[in-house]
Amino acid sequence: MPDPAPYAIGPRNTRGRAQREAPPVGRSEFQRDRDRIIHSTAFRRLEYKTQVFVNHEGDLFRTRLTHSLEVAQIARSVARNLRLNEDLVEAISLAHDLGHTPFGHAGQDALHACMKTHGGFEHNLQSLRVVDLLEQRYAAFDGLNLCFETREGILKHCALKNARLLGDVGERFVKRQRPSLEAQLANLADEIAYNNHDVDDGLRSGLLTLEQLSRVRIFARHMQTVRREHPKIDARRLVHETVRRMISTLVVDLTSQSAKHIKAQAPRSIADVRAAPALITFSAAIKREQLELKRFLRVNLYQHHQVARMTNKARRIVRDLFQAFLNEPQLMPPQYHAPASTDTARTVADYIAGMTDRYAIREYRRLFAVDEI
Ligand code: MG
Repeated sequence: MPDPAPYAIGPRNTRGRAQREAPPVGRSEFQRDRDRIIHSTAFRRLEYKTQVFVNHEGDLFRTRLTHSLEVAQIARSVARNLRLNEDLVEAISLAHDLGHTPFGHAGQDALHACMKTHGGFEHNLQSLRVVDLLEQRYAAFDGLNLCFETREGILKHCALKNARLLGDVGERFVKRQRPSLEAQLANLADEIAYNNHDVDDGLRSGLLTLEQLSRVRIFARHMQTVRREHPKIDARRLVHETVRRMISTLVVDLTSQSAKHIKAQAPRSIADVRAAPALITFSAAIKREQLELKRFLRVNLYQHHQVARMTNKARRIVRDLFQAFLNEPQLMPPQYHAPASTDTARTVADYIAGMTDRYAIREYRRLFAVDEI
């Protein structure tokens, strides 16, 4: 592995952990962060949380867990080529969705609506809350006590009013500075992963067709190349070849464009990175194509009537659970009754956000179905 560059996060320039700990043996601080994330309860829950399709709709669709693994894999490849800290991008990638509610964005929107008068709900903020507070496995502290740079990478976006309350990790939003290059990279690796696997899952589910996708530039040009090279290819392989080539194009573009920015800006330190414009970016042409693909997915997949039916049901489940628990907190398991938090609405939000899709459905049945006790 090449030496990390001066603009990468490393042992010399990390801001460390909130609680002081003895240095790890035989692994770096960021490997330790990654290991803590993998051993957390929230990480295992990702297996049963929706990306786009609810977990029980099919065994082969992406879940938040497989999505997070894809993000980590893409981010690591680019990090190595740019001499960034691979362990840090891996830790950020694996943790970036820990705060996601059940039922994907439908669940998040529903919970945000419920929490409107109680400070709102943002999944990035919730991911940070999971690693800072909600995981309870260590004797000496709540949460996972991760390094500042891992926490900063997890908090991708944040409303300014929340940023002001967060101290160190909120600072960059207030000062309008950039996060580490590793955080910038994990963010774009997330985008590469979901755009491409949503195309794949959309086709697999039959909600999207090849004909529709041949109107999207980035898909069309890669599909044409595959067809030209392999005129007799069957439909399944055609999809895989096309998606795999799209990912590769995006990874190569992201790497070369970012390398150019880094060379031009020549940051010598993390302070330089923070003050510079975003250095990890796609080229303008690829950015345009990505935007077109995103728009296509929004209209044709995320707003597809069959997805909308699920979304509608998910919204009702989250809303009804929230109301029931807020009105009668003792309906929640005992660990959620603890007086540690006097903010009942936030405790209810934590409980619901932690649920997997199927757990939320079971809780709904247990509370509202008359023939179940
Ligand atoms: Mg994600």
